[in-house]
Amino acid sequence: MTISDGLTTAEARLLGQRCVEGHEWYLPRQRCPECASAVSVFELSGSGTVFAQTSLHRHVSASAGFATGSERASAKKEAIGIALVDLDEGVRMMARCIPGTPIGSRVVVSIVRDRASHKLVPLCEVVAG
Ligand SMILES: [Zn+2]
Repeated sequence: MTISDGLTTAEARLLGQRCVEGHEWYLPRQRCPECASAVSVFELSGSGTVFAQTSLHRHVSASAGFATGSERASAKKEAIGIALVDLDEGVRMMARCIPGTPIGSRVVVSIVRDRASHKLVPLCEVVAG
């Protein structure tokens, strides 16, 4: 979710969509994917449970951007975790996480700025209990 997609405001709130029939989802759509009804936007709590998790490794250049081509040899390698989170509202979404975050962990998702790409990305953090 980015500012330009119309579902994250300048205050970086986590927003979802729902239709008049009550179906809810995270990724922006013109119509409900289940019944094709009109949609409206609502704020998600961010509270949820990790459904799945994986890690990937990327090269980051000294300028903190993504390393490309010949930059890769001198770039640092960084691991990032990617989780599928089932939000308490019933919406499943993808978010960054600490690599190795256990499946079933209770988390809170917020919108943060990625330090390599400078894009706004969802990040989930484990909460106690
Ligand atoms: Zn619907």
